[in-house]
Order: sequence, then structure tokens, then C-alpha cells
Amino acid sequence: MWKKVKRRKAVLNRSSFIKELKKIILKQQSRKLALLLVDLKGFYRFNDLMGYDIGNIILNAMYDRLVFCVGTKNLVTFLEGATFGVVLDRASTVEARAHQIIKALEVPLVINNTEICLGSCVGAAVYPDNATTAEEWVNCVDIAMAKAKKIGKDVCVVFSNQMKQDMENQLILENDMRKALAEKQFFLEYQPQLDLNTGKIAGFEALVRWMHPEKGLISPMAFIEIAEETGMIKPLFEYVLETAFEQIKAWNKLKLGKLTMAVNLSAAQFGDEALLAKIENVIGKGKGVASYLEIEVTESLLMEHLDEAANLLDSLVKKGVRIAMDDFGTGYSSLSYLHQLPIHKIKIDKSFMHLLDERKKTGEIIHAIVNLGHALEMEVLAEGCETKKQLNSLKKFGCDSVQGFYVARPLSKEKAQEMLLKYNTK
Ligand code: C2E
Ligand code: CA
Ligand code: CA
Repeated sequence: MWKKVKRRKAVLNRSSFIKELKKIILKQQSRKLALLLVDLKGFYRFNDLMGYDIGNIILNAMYDRLVFCVGTKNLVTFLEGATFGVVLDRASTVEARAHQIIKALEVPLVINNTEICLGSCVGAAVYPDNATTAEEWVNCVDIAMAKAKKIGKDVCVVFSNQMKQDMENQLILENDMRKALAEKQFFLEYQPQLDLNTGKIAGFEALVRWMHPEKGLISPMAFIEIAEETGMIKPLFEYVLETAFEQIKAWNKLKLGKLTMAVNLSAAQFGDEALLAKIENVIGKGKGVASYLEIEVTESLLMEHLDEAANLLDSLVKKGVRIAMDDFGTGYSSLSYLHQLPIHKIKIDKSFMHLLDERKKTGEIIHAIVNLGHALEMEVLAEGCETKKQLNSLKKFGCDSVQGFYVARPLSKEKAQEMLLKYNTK
């Protein structure tokens, strides 16, 4: 008769897990203990595809491997989801053990001729160094696990007090950010893009800044990620898009050549179904005006969401919007997608610029990217150009435009306009 496969031991929920930990703490005899959460990556793909029984066979097999790694004296338990809890009675070896666990779990498992390869993430915290109660201990290990998951698969993160401090600071920043939009604490700076053939300004990139009432100026590097995680990126993007687009319409009215405004799109926005409508709403109907707008997407973002991205970009291009691929060269190494997407411009990442300072032939890499872009009928802009020497090499390699401190840092709208008048009326 067909018998349903069950987990070998009970699956503990959070409160029964805490109860279990309390018992262990009572018995611990002043030894340091390490608590590990082990999360299986890729498990649900097989669980959904092959059914729950196979899912349970996989979990049981992984349980056995964990017991094999840490011994029967240590607690190993199923937790909810594809997670296991492990308590080690020798905290000093926690990292070595965690890596041993990661290695053991990644060995392929064969079920019904299917090879099942899983990854894992481990978060760890030490009692009593990090926590004095079972509840606190679990909170610490949760923080470590969240960080491990963020880093990716096959990583172990051991909790530190700094991590807690960072989380608290992040929470404060999140709350402040909610107020910041309403209180108009965000503003834009515009970094000029210089056309190397004409010596004139061809456009700008809009870069957002946050003037925090107590902390002062905060860089986007410190808050874009939080905005993405909290969904604040949507209203923030709207603010940037509306403000920057109004500005470029005004500058184009000066008749100083056709100017574009680049606006950054972030990874978290690809799933936003209202995005296209939002952009259409701002640019209006005219194709001429729409082409003032350039949407920047990073190469890695495109690769992760290739199908969604292709649809969105196609729709934008049909409206007349231009597309730039940001941070080119830092993402994916496969170039085959390049001609499948409607890209007008590639922006060579600033990390390549140092190649132009060396005497060796490394600058040829940039030359090759320029040629590649041109062969695909794309414009090529170099980011992060900081010296005259770099600018001259870029010119020599046929690069179309540059953006970087050598030309100008990101500027206030007044300073940007001053520069525009100076360069484009020559
Ligand atoms: P990014 O899109 O690559 O923007 C260019 C960054 O390079 C800017 O940093 C700019 O100040 C800096 N930069 C420009 N020229 C040079 C140079 O010659 N040398 C060096 N070392 N750096 C240069 P910023 O303004 O701090 O922005 C950092 C990142 O934050 C941006 O990188 C972009 O990814 C993100 N960001 C900025 N504004 C927005 C926004 O409105 N929306 C989204 N989603 N992201 C934004
Ligand atoms: Ca950018
Ligand atoms: Ca960039």
C-alpha cells in the first residue's frame, strides 16, 4: 500500500523551537553554544515539480546529512519551510562546521533518476555571547540568516553586534525615508554628458540626493537599496522622473541642441505593472518629447529579468523613449542578449577607466567595447572619466561621449544650466 512519506521528526514552529532551546540552555553548564539555521536553496523547485512526497524524501536525506555532520549529541530539527535548526555544543568551531554543512548539502542527491542539486545558507549566533535568552538567540540568528540570504547561496553568516546596530540604523532610515518624500527632502543633481565629437553637452544623468534634516546629505548608495526593499522606490522614481523630465523640457526650449535626460530604473521596478503607464503619463503623447528621456537599466538587472525587461523596453522604445545600458562590463559576460534588446546607448562602467592609465595595452579592452557598440549601432559613453589623459584615449578609441568628474561632477540645476549655456553657445 502507498504510504505517505513523512518528515522523520516533528516540524517545530517558532514557539516550540524556542521551548526546545530553553531546555538546552538550562542544561548547558556554562559552555558556549552555537545556534545555526540552515536554509535549503532551490528546494521548492523540486518540491513543486516532483511532489510533496519527494520533497519530504529530500528533506529527510538532508536531515540525515546534517546529523552526520554534527553528530547525534547535537540537536538537529526540522523547522518550517525548507529550514533546519542545529545547536552545536562547541561554539568555537561554528564557522568550520557551517562550511562542512554547506559542502555536505550540496552533494547531488539522485531520486528517480533525477539529480537534485541544492544550495544552502547558514545563519549562526552564539549563546551567551550574542544573547541571554532563547528568544533573543533566535532573533540574532534570524538577523544573521537574513544577511546570509541577501549575500546568496552557500554562505554562512555569524551574528555580530554590529549587524544588529546596522539593522537598527536601517530601520530608522526607513522610517525617516517615509517622511522624506512628503517633506521634500529629496532633490536632484544633474551630471553632464559631453559629446566628444562636438565638444558640446549632449545630455544629463539625473542623480537623486537626500538632505536629511539631522544627518545631512545622504548618498543614493546608502538609501536606494532600502527604498527598493520597502517599495519606496516607486514614489521616489516618480519624483525623479517628473522633476528630471520637466527640467529637460525646459532646457530643450533653450534650443541649445537636442538634450537627453537619463533616469535610473532600479531592479525592484521590473515587476511593477503600472510602470509603463507612469512613464507614458509623464512623457505625454509626442514622440519628439519622449526621446528627451533615456531610461538607464543595468546590465545585471537586464539579465535577471530578461523576458520582462524585453517587453518593457520594447514598449518604451515604441513610445520614443531611449534606453541606455548602465554599468556595462560589470554584469554578465555573455553578450548574445545585446542585439535582442532595443538599446540605444551603452555606458562603459567607471571601473574600466583605470585601464587607460596604464602603459600596457589594457586600454584596448575599451577600444573593443566601443567597436562592439558601434557594430551593433549603439552609442558608447564612458563613465567615470576623471583625467585629461583618459578623455584623450577615449577620443582616440572613437567613444561618442563621456560622463565623469573631469567634465563635471553632478551639479545643481542652476550650475548645470550655467555649464550648458557656456558649452553649447560656443
Ligand atoms: P550610477 O547610475 O552608475 O551613477 C553614476 C555614479 O557615478 C554617480 O554616483 C556619480 O556621482 C558617480 N560618478 C560620476 N562621475 C564619476 C567619476 O568621474 N568618478 C567617480 N569615481 N564617480 C563618478 P552617485 O550619484 O553617488 O550615485 C550612485 C548610484 O546610485 C548610481 O550609480 C545609481 O545606481 C544610484 N542612483 C542615483 N540616483 C538614482 C535614482 O534616481 N534612481 C535609482 N534607482 N538609482 C539611483
Ligand atoms: Ca546610471
Ligand atoms: Ca553607471
